Amino acid sequence: MEFKYDSNNIFAKILKKEIPNETVFETKHSLAFKDINPAAPIHILVIPKGPYINYDHFVSQATNEEIIDFNKTIIQVIKNEKLDPERNGNGYRLIANTGLNGVQEVPHLHFHILGGRNMGFMVSR
Ligand code: 5GP
Repeated sequence: MEFKYDSNNIFAKILKKEIPNETVFETKHSLAFKDINPAAPIHILVIPKGPYINYDHFVSQATNEEIIDFNKTIIQVIKNEKLDPERNGNGYRLIANTGLNGVQEVPHLHFHILGGRNMGFMVSR
């Protein structure tokens, strides 16, 4: 399977600092920033800095260092936002929309962290 990354997508432009973002956390390999059109009181996007379209692309081609960094960044943001149930947080939803049926708008891997309210049913039925 060949993954064709579009280096002009909006998150690539954010990484190149061509457009601004509200960063909440950053590491060597990952960036977490506020969603421009929040669907919940807390709505943060976590992306790897490398050019990966989706989770499959990332897990099959990223280095272990990048994969560990990205996954730990997601959890760090969840903790920073005090969402984790283990520390009295009220929980959260983690979403990675992928491809056509997943309704992925931006072709750069991103996880949505949503919280601050009850997120309701997982998907519309
Ligand atoms: P997707 O549908 O691909 O899973 O989600 C893309 C997300 O990116 C949407 O929630 C949308 O609001 C967000 N988004 C799109 N353009 C920008 C932008 O320029 N800046 C930020 N911070 N978020 C964006």
